[in-house]
Amino acid sequence: MEWIEWLPSREFRQFVFNHDLFIPLLFTVRVIVVTALEWMKPAREVPYRSIFLMDIVGAALVGYLLLPVALYVSEQIVIRPVLPEFISVVPTAAAFALYYVVGDFGAYWVHRLLHLGPVWRIHKWHHSPTHMYWLAGYRASFLQQVLFNFPWMMAFSVFGRAPWWMYWAVLSSHMFLNDWMHMNVTWRSNWLEWIVVTPRYHHVHHSENSEHANANFGVTFSVWDRLFGTYVDPDELKTPITFGIGERVPLVRLVAGI
Ligand SMILES: [Zn+2]
Ligand SMILES: [Zn+2]
Repeated sequence: MEWIEWLPSREFRQFVFNHDLFIPLLFTVRVIVVTALEWMKPAREVPYRSIFLMDIVGAALVGYLLLPVALYVSEQIVIRPVLPEFISVVPTAAAFALYYVVGDFGAYWVHRLLHLGPVWRIHKWHHSPTHMYWLAGYRASFLQQVLFNFPWMMAFSVFGRAPWWMYWAVLSSHMFLNDWMHMNVTWRSNWLEWIVVTPRYHHVHHSENSEHANANFGVTFSVWDRLFGTYVDPDELKTPITFGIGERVPLVRLVAGI
């Protein structure tokens, strides 16, 4: 039974971080948990066998190359506000909530910006999957990542002198939320949709039907869409939705966002 005692221990944490195993471990948990949920209550048929391997390669490219470089570049440019002292002493849970409200408000507007004609190409890769499931959501061009990093990095200031694990907690929460909103599940969640973005809510945003071109930009909370007139109720859809951008663009251009 010794290994069980070892799991949550300080030595285990040190081992994980010293060997850069946190992200691979988290990814393994995501594969197991999210795949199980999609298997139990799938919304549509997804040809996992033909797309999963390519998406793993793509996700690795994003996670180990595009994301670290984008984080570095954003760090150089972003302006971090100096917040009043009392914010730095709020309880961690409240700081977490504040981080998500402030960051998500900015993310909503960055997302709306990316759907405008001249810069739509930066965001096309994200909308390119023709099958919607949890791993489809990783696609984010370098410029898209830099732009989305700004509101979240500014909001991160609410943690004040954050403990070392806060960065990893926030990163994990973003990954799980991204998995969640793209997941291939049926979820009767009308009440939950008053607060947060759900899979079927975000799936409307990925529809290739031009009627939904300006629908459901929300990234975490649904309140912004309701406030700013971009909310489309998934219950009101007349026909089943299909996904994609309706055009063929070379993969290199999609990934580069040009
Ligand atoms: Zn979008
Ligand atoms: Zn998406």
